[in-house]
Amino acid sequence: MAKEKGIKVIEDLPGIGPTSSEKLKAAGYETLDSIAAAAPAAIAEVTGMSLEAAKKAVDAAKQSTTLEFSTASDVYERRKSLGAIKTGAASLDEILGGGVETGGITEVYGKFASGKTQLGFQLSVNVQLPHDQGGLEGAVLFIDTEGTFRPDRIEGIAKSAGLDPKKVLDNIFVVRATTSDQQVLTAERADKLIKENNIKLIVVDSLMSVFRSEYMGRGALAERQQKLNAHIHKLQSLADTHHLVVYITNQVMDNPAILFGDPTTPVGGNIVAHAATTRLYMRKSKEEKRIVRLVDSPNMPEAEAVIKITPMGIKD
Ligand code: ATP
Ligand code: MG
Repeated sequence: MAKEKGIKVIEDLPGIGPTSSEKLKAAGYETLDSIAAAAPAAIAEVTGMSLEAAKKAVDAAKQSTTLEFSTASDVYERRKSLGAIKTGAASLDEILGGGVETGGITEVYGKFASGKTQLGFQLSVNVQLPHDQGGLEGAVLFIDTEGTFRPDRIEGIAKSAGLDPKKVLDNIFVVRATTSDQQVLTAERADKLIKENNIKLIVVDSLMSVFRSEYMGRGALAERQQKLNAHIHKLQSLADTHHLVVYITNQVMDNPAILFGDPTTPVGGNIVAHAATTRLYMRKSKEEKRIVRLVDSPNMPEAEAVIKITPMGIKD
């Protein structure tokens, strides 16, 4: 296939002027790859151009992008440079293969009070520990969409970890996002903050809450998923390019289609399910005990760990 010369940005595509490019970007199509991977009908709908013209633009985008191949040995070398944050509970670290890994998205879903936010707090402290104590000596970007960030709780966990609470709090950059636009833009604009402050952990607590409340009703579902998709891809690319951990929490619903077994299903559909590298399901047990199930991992088997949420943080 002849490679289209000179197509470097969306505006270079045939039939895409400044107005169409704005519309595409607003809908989450920000790169040539995203257009190359899109259905022409979707591009036609977003831009208002004809299906024929949209096909031409998508074809040109396809030809402009190159795929890079690496050998398995290259991938293996890169994987050896990955780091992980320890969770505070050895049993949970073990089923995760050492801790919560950099370079990908780890999702925890579960009902209210199951401990999703608490684990986010613990990781926000532990990431600051030296490497030989299970940390990454890095800072945190905490995107709080539910208003449940608690500095006093961080303080308590930091003291228990033997760290200076003031320093720990200074290393956590908190954004209170009350709209999906704020949530999305925080991730979009995070590169500079990440580089300047050696951020090694991004927490999104929770991923879906504002999306769910803004996009009520089935009519807007496709639009919501498209925006969510772009957001998750940005998070994944931040994890990749900056070798950091993305930890997202997710709400659940009861899925009436599941007749036997546990009907608890994370929200967000396939887009979230496929994007998360590692998925954990957390549920309450007796008193401070929580059962954490590894439901999806690229390299570890399904398994469960029992942890405790204590005043000092997450423990075995
Ligand atoms: P939601 O879906 O409502 O956001 P969540 O999964 O994020 O829920 P968390 O806020 O992480 O839930 O967990 C809350 C629970 O953590 C409390 O019910 C309590 O059991 C425990 N917890 C919180 N703070 C402390 C503390 N200081 N000491 C001991 N346990 C605590
Ligand atoms: Mg929470």
